[in-house]
Amino acid sequence: MADYYELLGVSRNATPDEIKKAYKKMALKHHPDRNKGDKAAEEKFKKINEAYEALSDPEKRQLYDQFGEDGLKGNPFAGGGGAGGFRDMNDIFENFGDVFGDIFGGRGGRRGRRNSPTQGSDLLTHITITFAESYSGTRKDVSFARSSSCQVCGGSGAEAGSSKKTCPTCQGAGQIRVSQGFFSLAQTCPTCHGDGSIVEKQCNHCRGTGFVKEEQKVSINIPGGISSGMKMRVAGEGNSGMHGGPRGDVYVEIKVKDHDLFERDGDDIYIEVPISYSQAVLGDKIDVPTMEGTVEMKIPAGTQPGTNMRLKDKGFPSLQKHNRGSQFVILKLEVPKNISDKHRDHIIKLKEYEADHKERPSLKDYLDKVKNLFK
Ligand SMILES: [Zn+2]
Ligand SMILES: [Zn+2]
Repeated sequence: MADYYELLGVSRNATPDEIKKAYKKMALKHHPDRNKGDKAAEEKFKKINEAYEALSDPEKRQLYDQFGEDGLKGNPFAGGGGAGGFRDMNDIFENFGDVFGDIFGGRGGRRGRRNSPTQGSDLLTHITITFAESYSGTRKDVSFARSSSCQVCGGSGAEAGSSKKTCPTCQGAGQIRVSQGFFSLAQTCPTCHGDGSIVEKQCNHCRGTGFVKEEQKVSINIPGGISSGMKMRVAGEGNSGMHGGPRGDVYVEIKVKDHDLFERDGDDIYIEVPISYSQAVLGDKIDVPTMEGTVEMKIPAGTQPGTNMRLKDKGFPSLQKHNRGSQFVILKLEVPKNISDKHRDHIIKLKEYEADHKERPSLKDYLDKVKNLFK
């Protein structure tokens, strides 16, 4: 059995780019179009593609380097091709269509085989929920537009009574051959787009496409703890597939409205609560709202502005772990701007008292430093 590197004519330490280049050269040289009826050339062409499939994939290449072709047998990375060989020419084009682009007719890549069922495309839609809904979880109806097989023509695109007929351009092959230089190339038929058949009379309902737009509504369960930007997948509710293929999926992106009081960071919730000077000095008990009702919280005497107090397990339920975040309460010292005469009287008395009694350690420290500054 020929060595894969020898088949492509590259050294064992060839770069991926060198391998790709060599493959392209060898594949064109041994292409069946240039060697009509030559079974040996066809075999060689398949071997070259096998070699490229193995060496163009870093994982497979490593296995091949270590164990030879045996390393690729029954191997999960080997897929449908590999040492098992390609089933037919279409396999080769489906695998490596991207290397050649349209040169062999663009059969490869995503189009798949002619008339073979292909899955419909996925859809993305959005839904906005409230902060509270994202906290506790909710059930929501989501509406979106999708394409579905036309009910009138059953997806064929042909009007009732008329049927599909063989494409006159390609005689049903789905491809046409054009001579280019020294060998002929296959190209996707421009009339039927590779389908091989065209409708005699177009279905009025879907204008011959076989598909119609429809509005679909699904109900989704949104778990508590979901956050803005997350996407939920609803399997099998996307666009209809081609030739009876299954529907694609729908992804629902969740947007969460901001809350007046609460802010979210990860699984934690933050809230700012204003407190007065006297509360900060003397300490107090205050009521703090959480997502599950009000709780009483003790402010210790001598609390500093901006102090962050933690209420354990009052945050969001974690989607990954079986625990909850915390709620953090930021105590904001409120300095009032407009106060009553009576309030002012109290503050004036406080000011007079503070002037007579130096009970502020930070101030003393500061004044000491100021004194030293000009020594
Ligand atoms: Zn129709
Ligand atoms: Zn055609």
